[in-house]
Order: sequence, then structure tokens, then C-alpha cells
Amino acid sequence: MDGPKGRFITLLCTMKSDELEQELESAFPFVDKPKGIDLSFHKDDCLHCQYLRNDLDSYADQHLSKDGIRELYNDMSCLSASGWYWVFPSYLRLCLNQEASLFSNETEYLIYNLAPESKYKEETKQRLSAFNKPQLKCILHFIIWWQQNEHWQQYFGSELEQAKSFISELINA
Ligand SMILES: [Zn+2]
Repeated sequence: MDGPKGRFITLLCTMKSDELEQELESAFPFVDKPKGIDLSFHKDDCLHCQYLRNDLDSYADQHLSKDGIRELYNDMSCLSASGWYWVFPSYLRLCLNQEASLFSNETEYLIYNLAPESKYKEETKQRLSAFNKPQLKCILHFIIWWQQNEHWQQYFGSELEQAKSFISELINA
């Protein structure tokens, strides 16, 4: 978008990115990977969860690389609360760095995962249950930051609105 209005929005987003980066650094330190079955959402014999555990076997560090995130971004529902707690510091940093690239699958799926349909709300709350208030607020600020981005707002406007009210609900609970 050209013209004064476009420049203003760009400037606003740039400022917000800096603030968001600072907030992310302080709210989301890297943590250890959960061991064994603790990584999985389902504790019984779920093959889907088992496959993901196997796929993530070679990723043992606190920091999960982009390749590691590629293994799991469309299987986030297979991870436990401590799984999300381990993955989010790396995942959010990746999203912050990918702002400029359109159609980033990782960001797209994260937005979906933060905007569950009614029937998945309870289990999504369980997966978010390890996060403290400052972390939930940081996630909310990511949602607001995506809303400021023309691309995400245009294609995922309703999901972003849903995610915003869902996370706000948890913060105020
Ligand atoms: Zn499972």
C-alpha cells in the first residue's frame, strides 16, 4: 500500500515488533524438552502421538530449530502442556522473524491452534495450562501484532479475532 496511511501502518508494525521481541525475550526463556511420554498429549496408546515423539527424537535441545518446528507445526494437538511449554519459545521467535514472508505455514497453523472450535476449547486450554500470565499476555500481543499485518488480517481475520477472545478469556480467568 502506498501513500501516507501505508507508511504509517508500516511504522506502527515496526515499533510493535521491537516491543514484542523484548517481551518475548523476557517472558519465554528456553526450557528443557519434556522426557518420553511427558511430551505427548495422549498418555495411552495413541499412534499419532507416538509418531510425533519419534519424529522429535533427534531434537533434544532447549532451542528447537526451524526443521524441528516443521516436524510438529501441523501436529501441535499431539503435544502436552509441557510440550507446548518447550516448543513455544522457539516457535514464537520463528514467527517473529517470519513476519515479512507471506503464507508462512508455521504462523498459519499457530493461529489455527490458538483459535480452537468450541469442541476443542477444553483440550486446547489444557495444552496452554503450563503458561503463566505474562506468557499468555505475550501470546495475546502476538495475535494483536498479526492483526496489524495486512496479510494475516486479510486472510485470517476471523481466526485472529477468535484467538484474541480465547486467550483474553484465559488471561482473565
Ligand atoms: Zn495422540
